[in-house]
Amino acid sequence: MIARHDEIRASVQALCRDFPGSYWRDRDRAREYPTAFVKALTDSGMLAALIPEEYGGAGLPLSAAAAILEEIHGSGANGAACHAQMYTMGTILRHGSDAQKQRYLPGIASGALRLQAFGVTEPDAGSDTSAIRTTAERRGDIYVVNGQKVWTSRAEYSDLMLLLARTSPKDENAKKTDGLSVFVLDMRDAKGLSIRPLRAMLNHATTEVFFDNVEIPAENRIGAEGKGFRYILDGMNAERILIAAECIGDARWFVDTAAAYAKSRRVFGRPIGQNQGVQFPIAKAYAAMRSAELMVHEAIRRYEAGEPCGAEANMAKMLAADASWQAGEACLQTHGGFGFAEEYDVERKFRETRLYQVAPISTNLVLSYIAEHVLGLPRSF
Ligand SMILES: Cc1cc2nc3c(=O)[nH]c(=O)nc-3n(C[C@H](O)[C@H](O)[C@H](O)COP(=O)(O)OP(=O)(O)OC[C@H]3O[C@@H](n4cnc5c(N)ncnc54)[C@H](O)[C@@H]3O)c2cc1C
Repeated sequence: MIARHDEIRASVQALCRDFPGSYWRDRDRAREYPTAFVKALTDSGMLAALIPEEYGGAGLPLSAAAAILEEIHGSGANGAACHAQMYTMGTILRHGSDAQKQRYLPGIASGALRLQAFGVTEPDAGSDTSAIRTTAERRGDIYVVNGQKVWTSRAEYSDLMLLLARTSPKDENAKKTDGLSVFVLDMRDAKGLSIRPLRAMLNHATTEVFFDNVEIPAENRIGAEGKGFRYILDGMNAERILIAAECIGDARWFVDTAAAYAKSRRVFGRPIGQNQGVQFPIAKAYAAMRSAELMVHEAIRRYEAGEPCGAEANMAKMLAADASWQAGEACLQTHGGFGFAEEYDVERKFRETRLYQVAPISTNLVLSYIAEHVLGLPRSF
């Protein structure tokens, strides 16, 4: 059984009480970054939960980070403004040199350095990461980067970006996933870098990033040249599990909000929740949430035990995203017309949780992973 971290959950709930629905509605309407919330979370040390104590973090297991993100989402808030930092730093931790760890991790742990941006997706390369075309060309002791990223969330609110770029042409490598390298790009003094906000369905501070001869010191490359895709993949189980925990939090918020409304809203002289037609979708969503939660716990258990957990992490992410979407649908329907009114927060959470059917990995790609890697079905791409 994984640890529940009840004390941590209580601290997150207390912190989130200072950021009620009105706070998130205002940010959402203005498409503003939730700076005060991210600062409070950073000051509390929770964003540094996974950073080892020797680098100034809390040195907690993945289950603690999952508990933090679940509670943030369960309170009606949104951790997407800063969740990436919890797992992107893992690439430095696992594959960086001692010097890189000393240089970045203490600053990230204290909040002095923000590593919120993760530049992988490009206009012509989303699900197929191996198709990325942004190049990093080695010239002496620097790399020169040219190309474009899209959907690079939080780039305007980050000091550093974890960047995946091509260091050798795709057709020169025996494996299509070779030839990509990972860099820590310090965006604060990067010449030739431009960031353009990308207005989206939800308030996600996402952007397009353009690289025009951007120079990165060679010492900022993480690990071996050409092996970057493997390092990114390595961090994906943690990412999938943490996103799944956020979905469980969303599902909980939708179920609780729907049940509370169903008890109080009276139509035809009785609470709408007295009608089984209203009860059952909420009850079904609750059951789906609880079963997805079991898979999240199993993925965490395997991750923490150092066992392979690719299948479980993927299934946890898919099942939890489906459960939160199902709960969102039940919650919106329970609210009738008021589900569409901003002041109930249902429509905002509905938009926010919809993202997880597509990002960071779409449902079809999870299914294809299970089909190929678990069931041994023929590879389709
Ligand atoms: C709000 C938001 C924030 C994001 N933040 C980041 C970020 O910070 N950093 C980052 O790098 N990326 C980010 N992304 C990008 C995200 O990871 C991609 O959108 C996602 O990986 C899907 O890629 P795509 O959009 O190019 O879709 P595509 O790859 O074009 O796929 C389109 C559709 O086709 C389906 N499809 C494609 N191939 C197959 C197949 N072989 N079989 C079956 N179905 C298939 C997919 O499932 C999908 O539904 C973000 C996206 C959004 C919307």
